[in-house]
Amino acid sequence: MEQTQIKLGLLGAAGRMGQAVQAAADGLADIMVVAAVDKGDPVRPVFEAADVVIDFTPPGHTAAHVAFAAEAGTAYVVGTTGLSDADQAALDAAGKTIAIVQAGNFSLGVNMLMALVEKAAASLPASFDIEVLEMHHRAKVDAPSGTATMLGEAAASGRAVQLKDVARRARDGVIGARPEGEIGFATLRGGAVIGEHSVIFAGDSERLELSHKAENRGLFADGALVAARFAARAQPARYSMVDVLGLGDL
Ligand code: NAD
Repeated sequence: MEQTQIKLGLLGAAGRMGQAVQAAADGLADIMVVAAVDKGDPVRPVFEAADVVIDFTPPGHTAAHVAFAAEAGTAYVVGTTGLSDADQAALDAAGKTIAIVQAGNFSLGVNMLMALVEKAAASLPASFDIEVLEMHHRAKVDAPSGTATMLGEAAASGRAVQLKDVARRARDGVIGARPEGEIGFATLRGGAVIGEHSVIFAGDSERLELSHKAENRGLFADGALVAARFAARAQPARYSMVDVLGLGDL
């Protein structure tokens, strides 16, 4: 039993998600948290002690953390949102030598929503306007949410366009009529909302809305642990939750 236990390291352990992962891991026989650190603690030793590290630190640290992972040969699961292009490049590079799971959202429902959004965007005519609406708690620092961006990317992929070419990330003032093909984002912040996302396909005489509501943070923690189990055994590469959950055929 001991030999098959996965040694897990945790970055951002005192945060909302860090605490949720620790609580979810406490009850598991196959995963043992061997190092859990927060701001100010040294990070490199966590990678040296663990088989896999889950990172729920705020944006700005991912490139440095994945470099430690690659140096130590440790699998890396990162849930941080608002990643920069430099972070993405660092993940791509490290994915050549270690297993990495990166997901802006670890929930099964949201990953299924992404697949459904891509299908709807591919099937509905361009006259259907696509809007992504999200709401999160007042402490969230990035906007739109990583999940909203991923849903926008799924819609763009369904329409065979690049999100960056069609995204309208915010609207204010006299900005003119909505151009066809735009993918719009609207962000709400307040209270303790864990995460709610809707993708709206608005046609001239009908509107399709696909929505997901997170009921508790344990959902993301459980998904991150599923990803950690997957990464601990996977070949070096960069993976998404679609790979982890086997949703590729949806
Ligand atoms: P939080 O602010 O509650 O926690 C972050 C923690 O990281 C804090 O305790 C902070 O002190 C610590 N920290 C900061 N810098 C650090 C460093 N260099 N090393 C170690 N620890 C450090 O935030 P949160 O709500 O837990 O969210 C964290 C991130 O995860 C955000 O980017 C959020 O958007 C994202 N998130 C992702 C998912 C998902 O499913 N992928 C779900 C929820 C939140």
